[in-house]
Amino acid sequence: MAKLRLVISRRLLIAALSALVFTIVFTIALFSRSVFTRPDDLDEIVREGQTASDTGRPEEALRLFAKAASMAPEKVPSFAADYAWAYLVEGYASYMAQDWRRADECYAKTVEIWPEMRAPLADAWVVVRDFVLDDKLEAASRAHGRADWEAITKYARATVEIAPDSIAAHYFLGLAYQWSGARERAAAEYRNVAKGSPASSGLDDLCRAAKAVHMSHQFNGLTPLHPLLAKAEAGDFATYEDTPFIVHHHNIELAKRTARALKYYLSREGVGGFLPALTTLPVACHVYLFRNSREMAEAAKYPSWQEGYFDAVAYRTRGDLTLCLAQDAPGMLDVTAAHELGHVRMALLMGREKRVPLWLEEGIASAATPLMTRRFYCEFLTGPRAEGKILPASEVMRFEIKSDVKEAADIEYAECMAIASILAEKDANAFRTFVSGVKKRQEAVALKKAYNMTLEDLDKSILIWAEKNRGR
Ligand SMILES: [Zn+2]
Repeated sequence: MAKLRLVISRRLLIAALSALVFTIVFTIALFSRSVFTRPDDLDEIVREGQTASDTGRPEEALRLFAKAASMAPEKVPSFAADYAWAYLVEGYASYMAQDWRRADECYAKTVEIWPEMRAPLADAWVVVRDFVLDDKLEAASRAHGRADWEAITKYARATVEIAPDSIAAHYFLGLAYQWSGARERAAAEYRNVAKGSPASSGLDDLCRAAKAVHMSHQFNGLTPLHPLLAKAEAGDFATYEDTPFIVHHHNIELAKRTARALKYYLSREGVGGFLPALTTLPVACHVYLFRNSREMAEAAKYPSWQEGYFDAVAYRTRGDLTLCLAQDAPGMLDVTAAHELGHVRMALLMGREKRVPLWLEEGIASAATPLMTRRFYCEFLTGPRAEGKILPASEVMRFEIKSDVKEAADIEYAECMAIASILAEKDANAFRTFVSGVKKRQEAVALKKAYNMTLEDLDKSILIWAEKNRGR
């Protein structure tokens, strides 16, 4: 009897426990369901997707938008432009990593989701399609009999349709026709490129003439400006606050996105842990979004090619944090905002008295940009290597900002970034010692002391590092 009672009470206990567990699970399920399907939850996911696109994380952005689309398919039109923009950023990242096929796919998705982008994106899209076509033609020429020429010429014709005025697109269509045996069509395409060729020219002459015209044209794979960045109200700055940032702007949507991007950067460690992750700042940071770089240059007396700046003088004299950005600059959020905030973070770390050599200051700010941006810098380094344009570290350390030569500055910024990254990634503590001890023109001494390295050792590691970090 006692045994039976024990069994019964055990059963009762198990039943009671099961009921309890069921209630808990059911409550959690109900609760989480109510959390995940709140009407503003979709808005939050879309906002996170925007920030991911704006801060150089297109893969994360695409994942978030795909999630939003599966949650509420009927709402897709309300965030289609942002979804398309994430594809555009992913396409551009793929282009920079020389993954032409992925770039082509992404640009096609951009235009499919947001047809208004077709014209603004046409030039950049044709550039990647010509690379794809070049690869296709090369592969086809190796297996001529087995190549699917119909598919290749169809692809080339579709490329011309994207940008009917593109010289490259007509030239490549001509090649596709010629190689597939459609000689008359090929001649027509070549004549379209090498206008005014003599009527008697043979196909090979026409091809050569068209190639010469094609080669003399610069191609530009840069993507268009985000339509949101292009909008600017007339009149004085309006103000939008999202602690710790006070954004002075001519476009409220852009101001909100800028604040979110800056808060995201601030919340992450930077430069191999050298810049700490912060949730706030000791004083508010004023961010001025100028309508264009001309207005910004006039206000700041800075070189006109600069796309943003941190007011170091205001910080040293009064402790104010002020950063300025030009909203007509491509990469305002994923490059310039992160870079200028890097200066702000560096200033806070070093204090108002301490100054570091300019090359190191710029190197750290550039290394504080998103991974996608730093990969672009690596392309700057590995590209000019072939042309012998890489400077020795000792020369990079004499870096000055000159007002008229932007192109040289790109490579110098990239090299400064590479050196700061190499040293920080090697040993964050040694990097702190190096940064606090280094003086202008005394870099070799500080390097020896902190890392037991010479400037020549550093030279050797720059290209190795760039090669390792380029691509995807
Ligand atoms: Zn800078």
